[in-house]
Amino acid sequence: MDERTKIVLGESDIPRHWYNVVPDLPAPPPPPLHPATHNPVGPQDLSGLFPPELIAQEMSADRYIDIPDAVLDVYRLWRPTPLYRARRLERALGTPARIYYKYEGGSPAGSHKPNTAVPQAYYNSIAGTERLTTETGAGQWGSSLAFACAQFGLDCEVWMVRASYAQKPHRATLMRTWGAKVHPSPSSLTAAGANVLAVDPDSPGSLGIAISEAVEAAGAAPNTRYALGSVLNHVLLHQTVIGQEALAQFAAAGERAPDLIVGCTGGGSNFAGLFLPFLREKLAGRADPVIRAVEPAACPTFTRGEYTYDFGDAGGLTPLLKMYTLGHDFIPDPVHAGGLRYHGMSPLLSHIYHLGLMEAVAKPQRECFAAAVEFARTEGIVPAPEPAHALAAVIEEARRCAESDTEKVLLTALCGHGHFDMAAYDLYLSGEMTDFELAQDRIDAALTRVPAVD
Ligand SMILES: *Cc1c(COP(=O)(O)O)cnc(C)c1O
Repeated sequence: MDERTKIVLGESDIPRHWYNVVPDLPAPPPPPLHPATHNPVGPQDLSGLFPPELIAQEMSADRYIDIPDAVLDVYRLWRPTPLYRARRLERALGTPARIYYKYEGGSPAGSHKPNTAVPQAYYNSIAGTERLTTETGAGQWGSSLAFACAQFGLDCEVWMVRASYAQKPHRATLMRTWGAKVHPSPSSLTAAGANVLAVDPDSPGSLGIAISEAVEAAGAAPNTRYALGSVLNHVLLHQTVIGQEALAQFAAAGERAPDLIVGCTGGGSNFAGLFLPFLREKLAGRADPVIRAVEPAACPTFTRGEYTYDFGDAGGLTPLLKMYTLGHDFIPDPVHAGGLRYHGMSPLLSHIYHLGLMEAVAKPQRECFAAAVEFARTEGIVPAPEPAHALAAVIEEARRCAESDTEKVLLTALCGHGHFDMAAYDLYLSGEMTDFELAQDRIDAALTRVPAVD
């Protein structure tokens, strides 16, 4: 093992293909179902929403899928991303653990999301799409798609969860700088939004509502398609550049395979991007990492949700997905990790969790911000509130290693920086941030409205 703090690869080391875990799993994931017939959806059911190449990737059983040159050209702006050894944090914690983090905050939008926004914009551009609609929570996905659309000459229209629109006005400005149109959601521009506003004019919105609006807007206009920044198989697929690079960086550093891989999960894409290539190694018997997802205690999809078919959006417009869910109209408390406030979870990760190949824990937000501040003061990078959840679990494990004097290798995804999250940091530093207790009856109530599928 070498003594470097930062393990960098060259441009020629950018992966040339994405890794699809599906053919390597012990059982195939349950298919998405048509919301009316409850039959498995076919490519034609999705053709109004997505271009043919993305539908093919969504359903692919191929282990590797080539990355087009036009996508690699854009990836070169920030990839490969660095892998850091967190020596200063290790020292501060007095831990014998070796902590590594793969940093995705150096992309133009400041997170991992451009890894999929760029191929999604590219495949749409070659299929004749002229305009993409989408939703965004904290604004990370909207800004990533706005950036990617600018690269390929597409128009971009974003429905942004109203609570975040108010908390993070500069994210909307970033999207507009890249040429996108941004609306707070719920909006009166769609029936889905107007329905919510009729019941609750002050609705803070949710990702589920914003998805309904963006899907409806895509269906209503010509040459317009929809893009999703997480949850779906093709999104997780695109993110596997992260883990493939990390594997190469571990090899370059002469480090052994990690004992524990930790990541935050909203819809599951950044964490899947990091760990799926390592899961390939685990399934092949070449490594045996514990894989631990971290979610907010206020939106505990894996740890308190149910594994069942549910809609991906609040309005019930999407196919039914077999996933861990809190109920499609569940509205989480306004925690500051906006990217983790989704009622469902990637069906692929849900399947992997259900198979017992990974575990999950939930963390209250103050513990996460405490971890983020400790990380910022030692490692320098100010994390986004989402990966702060993963850092809280990493620090917890590193302290356990210190107590038991065990020398573990830990790896985490630092999937974005927190430069747009100063209002949340302010609240934490002034001592005014609170934790939310999520009463069981709120989950139970939302789960009663999950559709019955037999
Ligand atoms: C969107 C986002 C998330 C949550 O989405 P995943 O699909 O679970 O990765 C987490 N962190 C950041 C920085 C994000 O932008």
